[in-house]
Amino acid sequence: MKIIFESCSENEAFARTVVAAYITRLNPTLEELSDVKTAVSEAVTNCIIHGYENKKGDITMECTIHNNDISIIVEDYGKGIADIEKAMEPLYTTRPEWERSGMGFAFMEAFMDKLKVDSSPGKGTRVFMEKTIGVCEGQE
Ligand code: ATP
Ligand code: MG
Repeated sequence: MKIIFESCSENEAFARTVVAAYITRLNPTLEELSDVKTAVSEAVTNCIIHGYENKKGDITMECTIHNNDISIIVEDYGKGIADIEKAMEPLYTTRPEWERSGMGFAFMEAFMDKLKVDSSPGKGTRVFMEKTIGVCEGQE
């Protein structure tokens, strides 16, 4: 499943709802559903405020289900990140003046099983996340 939408805050809620609908077939628990929606919200918000600095641009969200795994790619074609390792540190933000807390990547990491970030300055940022849904621990 792949969608392209404009970088505005209304579409953050839209992307969250789309991913929730998409993973329904995996019978997620409310907690799993909330984890995935939060991770998508954080990724999309980052594209809007950091990638495009609140200007217009396209955001792509691509989701794939394989067995019980959901993988999600959220991508923008905006500013990019110079130092990815630093950006991923909890509490690190380049926008303290906008009252960002620097916890977006930490949440994505905590709520999903895998997180990978690729970015090049001036070209954009691609966030890849993966999570196993509906499989109890020890049952995998
Ligand atoms: P919070 O998510 O808590 O509101 P934040 O967005 O600053 O604060 P993170 O989501 O962890 O924190 O991101 C850390 C930093 O990485 C950002 O401050 C920004 O500099 C950079 N960043 C994240 N996503 C992008 C992106 N899509 N494009 C450009 N820079 C990004
Ligand atoms: Mg953020």
